[in-house]
Amino acid sequence: MQDEATLNVKKQQETVTGMSLYFRLLGYVKPSLGYFILSVFGYILYSSMQPALAALLKHIVDVVSNDKVVEGRSLIPLAILGVFFIRGIGTFLGSYCMAKVANNVVFDLRTSMFNKMVTLPSSYFNSMPSGRLLAKLTYDTEQVVDSVTQAVQVILREGLSVIGLLGYMLFINWRLSLLFLFVIPFIGLVVRYASKRFRKLSLKIQNAMGSVTDVASEAIKGHEVIKIFGGNEYETKRFHKTAQENRHSQLKMELTKALNVPIIQFIIALSLALLIWLALDPAISASMSAGDFVAFIGAAGMLSKPMRQLTSVNSILQKGIAAAQSIFAFLDLDSEKDTGSKTADRLKGDISWKGLTFRYPKMEKNALSDVTLTLPAGKKLALVGRSGSGKSTLANLIPRFYDVDDGCLFIDNENINDYTLRDLRKNIALVNQQVVLFNGTIQDNIAYGGLRDVSREEVVEAAKAANAWDFIQELELGLDTLVGENGVLLSGGQRQRLAIARAILKNSPILILDEATSALDTESERAIQQALDKLMENRTTIAIAHRLSTIENADIIAVVDHGEIVEQGSHRELLALNGAYAKLHNQQFSDVAE
Ligand code: ADP
Ligand code: MG
Repeated sequence: MQDEATLNVKKQQETVTGMSLYFRLLGYVKPSLGYFILSVFGYILYSSMQPALAALLKHIVDVVSNDKVVEGRSLIPLAILGVFFIRGIGTFLGSYCMAKVANNVVFDLRTSMFNKMVTLPSSYFNSMPSGRLLAKLTYDTEQVVDSVTQAVQVILREGLSVIGLLGYMLFINWRLSLLFLFVIPFIGLVVRYASKRFRKLSLKIQNAMGSVTDVASEAIKGHEVIKIFGGNEYETKRFHKTAQENRHSQLKMELTKALNVPIIQFIIALSLALLIWLALDPAISASMSAGDFVAFIGAAGMLSKPMRQLTSVNSILQKGIAAAQSIFAFLDLDSEKDTGSKTADRLKGDISWKGLTFRYPKMEKNALSDVTLTLPAGKKLALVGRSGSGKSTLANLIPRFYDVDDGCLFIDNENINDYTLRDLRKNIALVNQQVVLFNGTIQDNIAYGGLRDVSREEVVEAAKAANAWDFIQELELGLDTLVGENGVLLSGGQRQRLAIARAILKNSPILILDEATSALDTESERAIQQALDKLMENRTTIAIAHRLSTIENADIIAVVDHGEIVEQGSHRELLALNGAYAKLHNQQFSDVAE
């Protein structure tokens, strides 16, 4: 008993979420309401012509069977043409306007998803493979188009046709019609079973589709690693497996669909047969003329197409619902927290960390524990330590890529959470190890985002300061050279110099250099180092460097180990201390000496 009760509650919730999904989707239709109404009007035109056809049929049969002198003989063909003409206009209006509505909906969904995406916290991107995200933006939204166009189209057009035809049948002979209506619940049962299955399968297909794009995009990005490390076979197998899963679910779906249609057709045929058998009973058909009889059976026959379409629309609708579910879940994700209200056009750049502790989501260990540091404006802090010790994490918390768990981080004596994200980030320039370049020109990449309105001279200046001008000049198109996706047409060092130029151009009071010169040879590094040294003047800088020689002149050197600051002081102080820093230093020194 109780099981049944909980089952019922669950069912109710399911329909409620189904309903609220529809309403939410309908919300997206609102801006195109005019087209929607036009489209409904078109379908009403179309479907009102269905019983008109049946009525014409009746008229023709009555005329022929009564051996009447045919009056207005040319009127009947004209009426036929007229009916089809109106039906054609209805079809056109209905489908074109509906397509317009659907494409508007997809456009809105896609753009709101993209708008959402750029506000999501870094932790979301770390937890979600990019292929899956792409599939959401492309495949899922298209499923919703299918759902909106086809489903609504069929529901309206065929639904109205059913109503019109049934109305006409009731008008001709209501008793016979009621008998016919008796079958409809059986069709309903088949449909209900099928729709449950469709929804489950659709979800599976969506996930499988996500994995297909996942594996593919990884293989595309990693093509060199795959070649060198002989990953071809492994990747091929992996792709094969996901594609196989996709095919499997698709086929299951088609199977259900393919079975669904003939079964329903057979049920309809059965009811038609029954109908004719009953109609042949003189007691029932006594009052009917030959025309009535033919028109009635004709209308019942015409019912089968819209009825069948109405039932197969379910699979599309379920697909759309499953996709809409995933889209709305995405749209409901929390954006980055941005509750601060303090504006800051240009910060001074005093930074202090007070007992700051941080852990990545779903991680057991703290990435940073109890970090306390003070960095006065215009000074330079160098973070050193083994890889994985937490240096990048410490740097990434300043522009609030992640939210601090415990302790605080102050800039100019204000908690960074109190600034608006926009203003906080406006004051920070960041160059990290993984340079990100966009598929555009060198100019676009240096003058990116908020910098895109600067003059060409300023871009050239920045490029010169970053020691990038030499190589840019040698390119045939100079600043207008296209760099390819993520700058594949440039070398690692060239990419890094563009990233540095970008940071120089931003001219912000706080500068973060996370292994910014790691891809450069010693000579270029030295040349850039001068540029960087100049850049760092009068700026609060946090520099993370692998080569200790580049940070010896830092005002404060902090040694990070297992997320804790184990030593801090100047180069000399730390050497004198003869602790962790001295050890690191000696190691590198002996490496160089070798
Ligand atoms: P470093 O820059 O000093 O080499 P990181 O700050 O990048 O070190 O990493 C510190 C620790 O945090 C490492 O143990 C690393 O595994 C972990 N870590 C880094 N990034 C993430 C992330 N996005 N999600 C979970 N753990 C992370
Ligand atoms: Mg790092």
